[in-house]
Amino acid sequence: MQEPPENADRNAVVHALRPFGTTIFSEMTALADRCGAVNLSQGFPDFDGPETIRARAAEALLEGPNQYIASAGLPSFRQAVARKMKRFYDLEVDPEGEVTVTSGATEGLCAAFLALLEAGDEVVLLEPTYDAYPPLAALVRARVRRVPLRGAGFDLPVDELTQAFGSATRAIVINSPMNPCCKVFTREELEIIGALCAEHDVIAIGDEVYEHLVYDGRRHVSLLGIPALRDRALVISSTAKTFSLTGWKVGYAVAPPHLTKAVRMSHQFITFCGQRFLQEAMTYAMDLPDSYYRDLLDGYERKRDFLSGSLRDLGFDVYPTQGTYYVLADISPLGFEDDLEFCRMLPVQAGVAAIPCSMFWEGRRSGRSLVRFCFCKRDDTLEEAVARLKTWIRSR
Ligand code: PMP
Ligand code: GLN
Repeated sequence: MQEPPENADRNAVVHALRPFGTTIFSEMTALADRCGAVNLSQGFPDFDGPETIRARAAEALLEGPNQYIASAGLPSFRQAVARKMKRFYDLEVDPEGEVTVTSGATEGLCAAFLALLEAGDEVVLLEPTYDAYPPLAALVRARVRRVPLRGAGFDLPVDELTQAFGSATRAIVINSPMNPCCKVFTREELEIIGALCAEHDVIAIGDEVYEHLVYDGRRHVSLLGIPALRDRALVISSTAKTFSLTGWKVGYAVAPPHLTKAVRMSHQFITFCGQRFLQEAMTYAMDLPDSYYRDLLDGYERKRDFLSGSLRDLGFDVYPTQGTYYVLADISPLGFEDDLEFCRMLPVQAGVAAIPCSMFWEGRRSGRSLVRFCFCKRDDTLEEAVARLKTWIRSR
């Protein structure tokens, strides 16, 4: 039998995807598993979300029906999403015409890119850029205009952003709270973006999956809460982080009717619909009392302070976390220069895994001294990670 050509795998995938390898999240989790490392890389909790939510799912699964639901999602869950928008952001949203349930935020993003962008369009992405956006842009043949945030505060460079908007600009993606840099956009910043979008007739795609993880008394501002964006924003969120159930992949997109119709067009051909029993359980979860959301935030604020303080004590330069469940640490004070090398070495030598942040800049042109540790872990897991890092640093 003839040997397959050496580049068989490469040729099997479309040109658009060839520049992208296996995601850094898969690589680092696989390495952590191989090394028995404490996995502070990929952002998922090492505890499960509330038992009451899981019990609802189990009940709904056993009771059935377990058949297809409406492509846009279970009406009761869409109503719960609309209640959430009112409760947290004082926004009136029509569950019939403005909410679409997706398989996690990931599918929501995919459906949005497929429905809204095509060859000849430009999409503005702020750097550091969450890893899913560039390949999605490539798949739909949209050109990416990258605008790096500025300095250690990841400030919005208004002049450069303004210059990035032109006649071909179709959309901008705003991830707030922002992964991996842990920035929370202020209302003023979003208003500047809103004004640019209105001036150039651009759609703002919001990725707000960390909306409930915003610290130190800050408040999350949804793109839909910016008047200039109420009719031109498509906001994608997820239940994954808020309810510590990342494996369920229940996400949703909220947008004015014309953008909702567009996203439903592509969504119906990607997954058609999600799972009824999970959406039943999330209908209950979304309406949990304020104390649930407060306790989640308090718990994460405490974990953030523990991990940030411990990394600082170990000699890292630690950036402030305004939102998300990550901490950014600069490795240069410890004598390291390359985050990717560092993160490939750390699980092997120290038994701890983290994410190299240069992967979120085009061509790794920045962020080479930055690594991301997640703190969505049990206290004993975080303590074990810190103890391992301490032993390793002392032994160097
Ligand atoms: N966007 C960002 C910024 C993320 O960090 C993640 C990972 N949770 C996602 C989207 C994907 O969310 P989901 O797991 O709901 O697909
Ligand atoms: N969003 C998660 C993170 O930033 C990863 C999700 C994924 O693996 N796609 O860690």
